[in-house]
Amino acid sequence: SKVPPIILNNGVEMPQLGFGVWQVPDDEAEQAVATALEAGYRSIDTAAIYGNEEGTGKALAASGLPREELFVTTKLWNSDQGYDTTLRAFDVSLGKLGLDYVDLYLIHWPVPSKDQYVDTYKAFEKLHAEGRIKAIGVSNFLPEHLRRLIGETSVVPAVNQIELHPHLQQHAAREFHAERGIATEAWSPLGQGKGLLEVPAIVAIARKHGRTPAQVVLRWHLQLGNVVIPKSVTPSRIRENIDVFDFTLDTEDLAAISALNEDRRLGPDPAAFDIA
Ligand code: NAD
Repeated sequence: SKVPPIILNNGVEMPQLGFGVWQVPDDEAEQAVATALEAGYRSIDTAAIYGNEEGTGKALAASGLPREELFVTTKLWNSDQGYDTTLRAFDVSLGKLGLDYVDLYLIHWPVPSKDQYVDTYKAFEKLHAEGRIKAIGVSNFLPEHLRRLIGETSVVPAVNQIELHPHLQQHAAREFHAERGIATEAWSPLGQGKGLLEVPAIVAIARKHGRTPAQVVLRWHLQLGNVVIPKSVTPSRIRENIDVFDFTLDTEDLAAISALNEDRRLGPDPAAFDIA
């Protein structure tokens, strides 16, 4: 594969760059995922709430790629939190994807007001022990949620998928994850394409390397050690976003991008987000 893996804390290999399908309608997901697989992506990030597990699954099946070469992530939605509801929701997701296991299953949001993420995670541990999930993890967990989860369960999460881009660099979370062997996966790695890709410092670095701003931002993540899952439905951009393994940002470039941090979220605050 074009994409080097990182080794998760349970020994499972995960491609450091994958393809995200948030906001891709089910009937367009098949084509988008097919384009991504042709371009060399092997990791796909979906979620029950995205409503496109079926389209994603169709593309995986149609690709003819061996299952062991694929890395499929899906996520449990907030309204399905709880032990028994999680077991049922997992079966539904697996059925829609047309798979007999997923590589990574994530609790989509902690929803602290529900106080069910520990029970939810215990169901994840059961499914993991049965071999139906290769690695279990979380998304949008703050260090306080991770600390409690680790204290009350047996399997340290392999991944925490959080909003992370040059305007929200998440220094404290990344350090916390590194201390505990949790991989940091960046959602909205391109800042949703809003403004970030026109920031003069990024445009200048892109020009210097003969690359695009999106490629520079993805390269910054990769050199920091983040897993990234950029999204696009445009074939040329899908290909552009994986074509980032033949150039390197220098110390000066990395420092210039690191200076862009504003601790500014595009998405919700995980401490308060409770939409079912
Ligand atoms: P992103 O940062 O990947 O940006 C995607 C947008 O950037 C595209 O819609 C397009 O407008 C633009 N873009 C993409 N490639 C480009 C290029 N080469 N040149 C110029 N513009 C380009 O944003 P995202 O989709 O929010 O995040 C990526 C993935 O992260 C999602 O698809 C989803 O899988 C995941 N995600 C997870 C959560 C969560 O709560 N766990 C939340 C949001 C997103």
